[in-house]
Amino acid sequence: AVELGANTFVISGMGDSDDQNRGSRLEMALKEALGNDEMEVFLQPKCLAGTGELVSMEALVRWNHPELGHIPPQEFIPIAENSGMIGSISRFVYFRAFEMLMEFSRLGYSHLRLALNVSPLEIHDGTLVKNLTNGLLFTGIDPRKVELEITEGSLLINSQTARSILDEVKSLGFQISIDDFGTGYSTFGYLKNFQFDTLKIDKSFIDQIQMDNNSRAIVQAIIAMSRTLNLQTVAEGVETQEQYDILKELGCDQLQGYFFGRPMNFDDFVNYLGDTSVK
Ligand code: C2E
Ligand code: CA
Ligand code: CA
Ligand code: CA
Repeated sequence: AVELGANTFVISGMGDSDDQNRGSRLEMALKEALGNDEMEVFLQPKCLAGTGELVSMEALVRWNHPELGHIPPQEFIPIAENSGMIGSISRFVYFRAFEMLMEFSRLGYSHLRLALNVSPLEIHDGTLVKNLTNGLLFTGIDPRKVELEITEGSLLINSQTARSILDEVKSLGFQISIDDFGTGYSTFGYLKNFQFDTLKIDKSFIDQIQMDNNSRAIVQAIIAMSRTLNLQTVAEGVETQEQYDILKELGCDQLQGYFFGRPMNFDDFVNYLGDTSVK
């Protein structure tokens, strides 16, 4: 049991109603999270496959609640989406990430690029363009350094609204990337309907690449197709030297994963930069 203010909830052995309790407890806590300074933006390196050079970083949000502890984004992002809070969380993440990009420039790492995760809901509710333009205005970053990673959404695929919003975002200078390619939601329909610059191959294909010929053949085919479509390729979830070697051999452009570095806070990332990269 965990003490939560005046009430006590049992966290282990939860049944449906306890799941609901946790859900509504998280939803309430989420409303306070930004104001109470409980959220942070971490950065994970992305490296060139050819040279290993660090070229970009993905912003990943972290929520540390004083009583509930660390809550993974996979748990609270859907809650934020369903309760209308995703726009304000994204605003926070974009601003903070833009600020860090500016700071890296000042420190001499002006070549570094940034990737942001975009929820399909922000595209629909109109907050995406507003948050991005305000972020540009307040921080002065160069939008050409920023890439938006977009996943799933049966909502999006045939939507004219989504298309015109992504066109607008591209005309502001941002690049767009299809995230988790090959999973249920991020598929060929998206490639056809939107002008992506980059394709991120889902971790599930990378996991088995060293022992499974099918995974390797699929990744090879995705890379070949990306070349034809003029898309850059990124592999996510690279954990071993063996996976690195295979992906390099297959001609993947960029690699990301624990082998290169875990998501880190700003200070750790600055140290990481000092240790690994050339200014
Ligand atoms: P994603 O965009 O596919 O992000 C990659 C996830 O894989 C991250 O988990 C990252 O920490 C993890 N990861 C990276 N390299 C490795 C590896 O080598 N091995 C393993 N096992 N995992 C690796 P995280 O940070 O927990 O985020 C999970 C998901 O939550 C993200 O998946 C993304 O969909 C969502 N998310 C995270 N931050 C944000 C955000 O700021 N906004 C939105 N809308 N969604 C976010
Ligand atoms: Ca992502
Ligand atoms: Ca991904
Ligand atoms: Ca993924």
